[in-house]
Amino acid sequence: MSLSHASRPAAHFMIEAPTPGADYTAVIAGLEAEAVGRYSLRSPASGEVIASVADCGAAQARLAADNAQRGFESWRQTTPFARAALLKAWHSAMLEAKEVLALTMAREMGKPIGEARGEVDYAASFLEWYAEQAKRLDGDILPSQHPDKRLAVLRQPVGPVFAITPWNFPAAMITRKVAPGLAAGCSVIVKPAEQTPVTAILLARLWQQVGGPAEVFQVITAERPAEISDLLIADTRIRKVTFTGSTPVGKHLYAKSAATMKRMSLELGGHAPFLVFDDADIDAAVAEVMASKFRNGGQTCVCTNRVYVQRGIFDSFAKRLAQAVDALSVGQPEEETTQIGPLVSQAGRDKAQSHIDDALAQGARRLTAAREVDGFFVAPTVLADVTEEMRIMQEETFGPVAPLVAFDDEAQAVAAANATPFGLAAYLWTRNLGRAHRVSEALDYGIVGVNDGAPSVPQAPFGGVKDSGIGREGGRYGIDEYLDLKFVSTRLD
Ligand code: NAD
Repeated sequence: MSLSHASRPAAHFMIEAPTPGADYTAVIAGLEAEAVGRYSLRSPASGEVIASVADCGAAQARLAADNAQRGFESWRQTTPFARAALLKAWHSAMLEAKEVLALTMAREMGKPIGEARGEVDYAASFLEWYAEQAKRLDGDILPSQHPDKRLAVLRQPVGPVFAITPWNFPAAMITRKVAPGLAAGCSVIVKPAEQTPVTAILLARLWQQVGGPAEVFQVITAERPAEISDLLIADTRIRKVTFTGSTPVGKHLYAKSAATMKRMSLELGGHAPFLVFDDADIDAAVAEVMASKFRNGGQTCVCTNRVYVQRGIFDSFAKRLAQAVDALSVGQPEEETTQIGPLVSQAGRDKAQSHIDDALAQGARRLTAAREVDGFFVAPTVLADVTEEMRIMQEETFGPVAPLVAFDDEAQAVAAANATPFGLAAYLWTRNLGRAHRVSEALDYGIVGVNDGAPSVPQAPFGGVKDSGIGREGGRYGIDEYLDLKFVSTRLD
């Protein structure tokens, strides 16, 4: 496999954001693959068709698997240093193409443009981090009780990987999987969400434009995922499935993957509690709940979904939060001032609105001003007098609404926070060091933010417990998901 372009400087990249009339093909081994059909991509903000996208089926999935197997056989032979050079070049290319990628995400899924730029930085950070980590795939030499034996442990790539990604972070959910996979020596086929195929296609084009081998990272797009997914999961050459998305789909894929004994990573839904104790810095807690709850319109798996506030500060906290939410600017995703764009779909809008309506019908009180919104927009909302029976306290809302519940003591707050099948992210606000330790240890979650509403960084493990999934992405832990351990015992002559 030639890596001669690996050091080519990121100069000028030939990619474009979707515009009405644009056509996008899947990127299967770099061929502009012929698909069974096409589907129209619509802007969630305007409803307009913004691109036509390849609708792939079984034939393209088979082709992608053939390529991925070939790609793996040569990619695994490359040195980690050569893989690192390509990942670094891809990182630079992504940053150079930031505006195009950000605009693409704003158009595809309605992410406000400022946040979309932030996502490009976050997504690219995984490429850089794993470029470095590729050089640390060291194994172990174990002490032996036999003088004539040498015992070694090697870390080797698992094989071709099938990755399924969601629409809410169209770039970062891809790089968080592909960067460790490629660094480890695996080839990866990504099936992006049907709502955000173009970001994925542009990432694959950038990969190829910096000299990345076409069979090593492929993107297969489809309006309905099941046919492709079933075929790739049944293919014994695919050794790992990594999925980010909803819990029901994750469980379905987990069951299907048993037949071919795939390695699995599942990053699933969340229902994050945010606990504010009466010794907290209230203004800081308000600022962070704004970031944790309202970024991406509340469509983030680690988004705060339930806010528990200690009774003594409840009114003061609620008033300040409602004022901050009333000041949010709701608008078109491409406008610089927009903080809240549309939700991704009619179904997403209906679910979030139904959580608000259900809570109000059962006696919750709206603390924010009413706003006129239409289409897929939902007015950012704060609700008080919320009870645990309301749907908003039971299900992931994925929308810009913060329900507030008062609590009396630490034990009650921890019990309420843990009373859910989910266990992805949780947050707590306190200035008491003992409480910070006690509560963060008692929370049944994979990620805890202590006075921190935005803990995600590329070097840390990201993932959940219980119905929020299995496995971790990010950091030195994340690359282990793409590596098998091989024990080699050698008897000396
Ligand atoms: P979803 O499960 O409907 O879709 C996610 C992906 O799965 C998409 O690519 C979709 O095409 C694919 N898919 C759907 N049905 C499939 C099937 N039968 N076979 C194969 N693939 C299938 O989820 P969504 O609504 O698009 O995404 C939002 C969910 O993702 C939320 O629950 C959110 O919490 C979760 N999420 C989790 C994380 C995390 O890291 N834990 C990150 C982002 C989003």
